This record gives sequence, C-alpha cells and structure tokens, in this order.
Amino acid sequence: MKDEKSEKKDQIIGLGLVSGGLDSLTACLLLQLQGTKVIGLNFTSPFCQYDKKTSQPDCNLDLFQEKLGIELHYLPLKDDFLEIIQNPKFGYGKHLNPCIDCRIYILKKAKELMKEIGADLIFTGEVLNQRPKSQHMRALMIVEKETGLEGRLLRPLSALQLKPTIYEERGLIDRKQLLGIKGRGRKIQMDLARTHGLLDNYYACGGCLLTDENFANRMKDYLKFHKNPKIEDINILKVGRHFRYKNTKIIVGRNESENNKLLTLKKPNDFIFEAKGVPGPITIVQEDYSKNSLKYAATLTLRYSDFKQLKGQVIYGTDYNKLTEEMTIKIENDKILKHYLL
Ligand code: SF4
Repeated sequence: MKDEKSEKKDQIIGLGLVSGGLDSLTACLLLQLQGTKVIGLNFTSPFCQYDKKTSQPDCNLDLFQEKLGIELHYLPLKDDFLEIIQNPKFGYGKHLNPCIDCRIYILKKAKELMKEIGADLIFTGEVLNQRPKSQHMRALMIVEKETGLEGRLLRPLSALQLKPTIYEERGLIDRKQLLGIKGRGRKIQMDLARTHGLLDNYYACGGCLLTDENFANRMKDYLKFHKNPKIEDINILKVGRHFRYKNTKIIVGRNESENNKLLTLKKPNDFIFEAKGVPGPITIVQEDYSKNSLKYAATLTLRYSDFKQLKGQVIYGTDYNKLTEEMTIKIENDKILKHYLL
C-alpha cells in the first residue's frame, strides 16, 4: 500500500471485487466517475452458477471490459477454500454457504493482489442489509477486522451508511459522490446503470451453489468421505443424479449432455456403466466399491435407461471404449432404488 504522500501524487487505483452483477458494475462506475482508475478482480469458482456461455448477455464480465474499459484479473478458488466450507469460523448461512468466512478469504487474496499490482485501495459492490446473513453491519465490521482492512474497505454503494474510510477522510475519494443504499432493492443501481448506458434491464446472476439445498447435501456427503478435499472434484457434483451406497458414490447422467460431461469428469479408476443395447445413462462409480455396490450401480443404470423389461444386461469397465464386463440385472422397485439418492 502506498503512503499518504505518494497516494496524493498519482491517480488513485481501486481494486474492485467483481462478480459480473449489477452491484459490482455500479460500484466500479461510481469510482470511475470520480476519476479513480479501476481494476477488477473476479474469483472463478466451481460454486458459481454464472456461466459466461449461457448467462444473460447483460449479466457478465464482458460489460466491465467493453463498457467501462476495466482490466480484469481472475483468481481461481483453491483447495484451502474447501477447508473453510468444512469448518467456518463464523458459521453457515441457510445451507452450506460460509458467507462471512468466504468474504474474508476472498478479501485476503485481494489484499495480496493489491500489493502486487500497486493498487491503493480495495472496494466491493456490497450493499448494507442486502443479504440478511452476510451483509448486516456487524458482518461488514467482522470482515474488515479479520482481513486487517479496518477503515480501509470501501463500499461505494453503501458508503453513506458506513463510517468514512481513510480514503474518504484523506480526500482521496470524494464521499459526496458515493451512495447510501441499504436493503435488497436494486432500483438505484439500475437507474445509474441505465443513465450511463451500461444496461437496459436487470438480470440476476446465477448465484452460489452453496446456498442450494440439493447441492449442499452432495457437498456435505463429499466432505464426509474426503479428508483432503480438492476443488477439481467439485465439478462432478454438479452433474447427474447422485447416490451414496455405503462407501461407494454412484452418479447417473440424466441426458446426453450430462453423459458426455460425466465421461470427461470421471477419474481413470472410476467405473463406467451403460445399459447393453438400449439408450440410457452413463453411470460413474467412484471410491470404494463392493460386489453389492456394483450391482446397485448396474440396477440404477438399467432403471434409468429406455429398457422396458424387468431383466436386462449392463456393461461396465474403466475405459469407455472397452466396457468388457457384463452383469445381468433384475430391476427392483423405485422405493428401494431411490433410498440412497442424495
Ligand atoms: S453466497 Fe457463496 S460466494 Fe457469496 S459470500 Fe456466500 S459462500 Fe461466498
């Protein structure tokens, strides 16, 4: 961080946490309007449902570059983030979302980048009381304290509701040009974005999978069975129907696109099951397995295939081009089959 003297000589550089949504976009705009150079930092996360290819055109990071000319840095979440999910100091939100710890984690990484690139301050698009668990006044204060950013974390959208940061006190940031938004409404942000030709309509971004009950159940199961969790394992949790049969994890594709994804995400030693001679799912078997769990995986594969009889064949192996093992299976009733669904 530059000292006060040198800060005054240069154009102020603000490093903003940007998600791709309206709040971070308008926070960046507010600082640009008062002459601050803005650099964006986006955390790429397997828990984020925002997908550049499929999301609404008005809700993506391209706007930051195209309309505001902001240079973006991307940081991927690392395995240490999974330790936070396992054991968050400040607890969870509604499901498995450790929001306060998550903000602390991200801001600590942002602090490192701020030093690296010579930025003067960090800012976010947070709005006071927009999220009941993580954006109330106490949560905002905890985050500042835990990151060592007390009085140094600028929130342009809610600044007038908060104590001035040192940047406002020193006159490096003009507090009068910041806002005092509070709560969930997005009208002020939307009006601002429209006035400056950034957006015509508001689209909500995809959100965080850790707040989704079904995904949270899969994640809890994953963490229970993996003492050294890896970020690279998370993507497969988003695809297909998931079953836990004792120590075995079984994933059944729901359509062709999921089948293809499962084949790309499987690990070399995972088993692949497929119904013989009829269209149906790709089933992946992971972790410890037994004769019974393989039989259960085969039954699920046949059950979710187009097979109409009670008895049929399933082929399996670890190489999709050489599914040389075969099993004859009798389909059981759905109640038994769904018993192990996560
Ligand atoms: S919703 Fe997800 S990404 Fe957002 S703060 Fe909470 S845990 Fe982090």
